[in-house]
Amino acid sequence: MTTKAYGALAADKPLESMDIERRTPGRHDVQIDIAYCGVCHSDLHTVRSEWAGTLYPCVPGHEIVGQVSAVGSNVKRFKLGDTVGVGCLVDSCQHCPSCAEGLEQYCENAFVATYNSRTPDAPGHTLGGYSQRIVVSDKFVLKIRHPQEQLAAVAPLLCAGITTYSPLRHWQAGPGKKVGIVGIGGLGHMGVKIAHAMGAHTVAFTTSESKRRDALDLGADEVVVSRDADEMARQAGTFDIILDTVAASHDLDAYTRLLKRDGTLVLVGVPEHAHPSPSVGNLIFRRTAIAGSMIGGLAETQEMLDFCAEKNIVADIEMIPVQDIDKAYERMLKSDVKYRFVIDNASLLG
Ligand code: NAP
Ligand code: ZN
Repeated sequence: MTTKAYGALAADKPLESMDIERRTPGRHDVQIDIAYCGVCHSDLHTVRSEWAGTLYPCVPGHEIVGQVSAVGSNVKRFKLGDTVGVGCLVDSCQHCPSCAEGLEQYCENAFVATYNSRTPDAPGHTLGGYSQRIVVSDKFVLKIRHPQEQLAAVAPLLCAGITTYSPLRHWQAGPGKKVGIVGIGGLGHMGVKIAHAMGAHTVAFTTSESKRRDALDLGADEVVVSRDADEMARQAGTFDIILDTVAASHDLDAYTRLLKRDGTLVLVGVPEHAHPSPSVGNLIFRRTAIAGSMIGGLAETQEMLDFCAEKNIVADIEMIPVQDIDKAYERMLKSDVKYRFVIDNASLLG
């Protein structure tokens, strides 16, 4: 089926309106009319080819919410009109040890990402949520239990929410733990809300003095402006977990220094240029670790959506028509997002 979309034909071209083809739903497929799609910094990295391997045309978008508009004959979990979400994954091998454990994001035979992954569908790679509709295998579709009027603000949970929730659970954020969240953008602002809701003592690290007040409102117990050496020094050696969401290369020693013995700095930001090599001293002398984490599996993504529905957590969003996407990317590069752009997909018809 021909579907309106917004994408780029090359790394140096602005995004533009285009028609794409979606497959006719197969027996296990769910077709979704997309209401809203969040704008992740990964969209920008990919569309501008900051990471290797972008396939064009590139239609980004992996924070998708909308309504089911068709289901295949074998689909039992969803029916027409259901409100659903799709995150960063649309398929995986389903039989490797990671898939068997519900950790599809670590599929050992390469998962299929919502955009920019090889697929038999036209044009040979997946196309994401900056589009009117998408067809996805039912296993990769999530149920949304938030009230309908919050739907646009739920979209960012599908990537920003799960990417922060999963490591916070894995490294056991909770009461009695001190958790730092570095970079108060799309991921970071969700990290602050979720760490706070898990009961951890939550500290927001920002380079932007202007976000100090906001970070407290988001649920941070303390805010540190990371450009202030004295403020940073006062936090030395006190953290169990620091989650680093920064989208640019920076000095990691500034954060390993803040870990307690056995603390962990978890990297989720994927900057275009590598971080400077961290010094081993902060690691060896306090048995600290630098780790990484990628989004979350389907079961954990559903758990996160249900946790957020129960705790009344959504993203703080700024809604945009799709035609403003390049302006949104430019603001994202200036750390000027409060705190996630969400596309109103009705604007695709405008
Ligand atoms: P974002 O909304 O642009 O937020 C990034 C934040 O990092 C900015 O708002 C800013 O916060 C801080 N920052 C930016 N440049 C900085 C610099 N030069 N030095 C220090 N801090 C800086 O981006 P996002 O959508 O949250 O994504 C963040 C990163 O995570 C991206 O690299 C993205 O590709 C990656 N990501 C990874 C996964 C995964 O599974 N691991 C999933 C999704 C996204 P302050 O103003 O507070 O300093
Ligand atoms: Zn993302």
